[in-house]
Amino acid sequence: MLDICFINCDLKYETEAVVKLFFPLEHFGFLYDEENVGDEYIIIENVPGQTVGIRLKIGECERNEAVSSGENAKETEENVCRALYLILSEFTGKKPEWGALTGIRPVRKINSLLDEGKARNEIFGILNEKYFISEGKFSLCYDTALNQRLALKTLDNNSISLYVGIPFCPSRCSYCSFVSHSITSKGAMKLMDGYVRKLTEELKLIADAVNGTPFYINTVYFGGGTPTALSAEDLSRIISVVRQEFDLRGCEEFTVEAGRPDTIDRDKLCAMKEGGVTRISVNPQSLSDSVLKKIGRIHTVDRFHEAFELARKTGFDNINCDTIAGLPGDDEQGFENTLKELIKLSPEGITVHTLTVKTGARLAGSSRDAFADDSAVSRETKLARRLLSDSSYLPYYLYRQKNTIGNLENTGYSKKGYECLYNIYIMDETQNILAAGCGGSTKLVAPGGKIKRVLNYKYPYEYISRFDKMTEYKRQGLKNDLLSLCKTYNAERSNL
Ligand code: SF4
Repeated sequence: MLDICFINCDLKYETEAVVKLFFPLEHFGFLYDEENVGDEYIIIENVPGQTVGIRLKIGECERNEAVSSGENAKETEENVCRALYLILSEFTGKKPEWGALTGIRPVRKINSLLDEGKARNEIFGILNEKYFISEGKFSLCYDTALNQRLALKTLDNNSISLYVGIPFCPSRCSYCSFVSHSITSKGAMKLMDGYVRKLTEELKLIADAVNGTPFYINTVYFGGGTPTALSAEDLSRIISVVRQEFDLRGCEEFTVEAGRPDTIDRDKLCAMKEGGVTRISVNPQSLSDSVLKKIGRIHTVDRFHEAFELARKTGFDNINCDTIAGLPGDDEQGFENTLKELIKLSPEGITVHTLTVKTGARLAGSSRDAFADDSAVSRETKLARRLLSDSSYLPYYLYRQKNTIGNLENTGYSKKGYECLYNIYIMDETQNILAAGCGGSTKLVAPGGKIKRVLNYKYPYEYISRFDKMTEYKRQGLKNDLLSLCKTYNAERSNL
């Protein structure tokens, strides 16, 4: 095991992210005392106001370098990460496509450079010099920034997104680390019933806080889990509460991430359509029955096609389909086939994820051989971009996660005019989001970008049993916070 040791500093998150670029499945020991380091180590020692020393021994590679401290902690952190990146790149011969850029929202960096009036080649120069980003990833990121710019530039400060979490799924996918509750488990129906009651209560509390303020809802997003794991009646009940309690006259988009094709039927589609849902996801992940079986999805390719067709017949004219590159049992040919078949169906959006294996997922214990080779998955994401752009799908939102094969990205593509606003806003972190339900994260964004986050419980039983405690803020603090945010926005506007 590789030990990473810090003296006079703690750059655990940043260092781990850089080292993982080169040793993705390695486990590290984190220490704060160099006497205890093992045979292979990276020691980072900060001498305040002077230099940061990097001493490293991994296999045949032994280095001892001094990196200059930056003018502030952020700059020092970037200097250390860059130096470590260069050492490891030289030692392993690897040149990660995203370079040393490890954050989950790379598009934001481009957006802020565009705001400064910088041109494409200048922005590439800055990011390439600072993070060694490749031209290919830069181009994807830059195009994504351009395609979301209109949505961000026209975003009204007084608009809010409403997120509703449904933490149930029909079965557990092998790559899933989400705390979704399988509806096949004992007692699931009772739990779902109690959950829906509490969820509607929480929605009413949020509505009480928003109503009477200048804020209005402009997007609604039901995510999960699988919202259509609920019965048509429960789905309809929750949608009705949203419609009755909130003023949705300014609502531009109402998404239900239906997700699993095996949970979609005519009654649920009608409940969503009648409830004013404008966008849904029907996610096959793969169009190979053997891959679906291997990853624990209990639907077939035919079932996906039925669900998609039924959604079209019910009148849904904005459907997104998710796919994943690098699934166990899949290969480049299989992934290409999935994409081509999906493109033939002409959904308005196709999201291309890269497999992420997080702790907590069943797959996490598998050996490296169980996963596709990094370079094969990289070719798949490039192929996706080419095939989708040849069919007029444009990248409009992008994010990265830890522990993704090849450190690659997840990219949402859509036909022009069908970009999901909620996805853009949540990745940019500039809009207020009010969240109800399990795993919900309410975010209030002050001018200048400071975010106040209030988290809900992740598990349904906790959500139900500790509901009163959890919703205290929504009863007592949320309305005041919204009103004072409003005052700050107004003051900011009048200073312009
Ligand atoms: S559908 Fe999504 S949330 Fe549900 S088990 Fe599969 S990956 Fe997890």
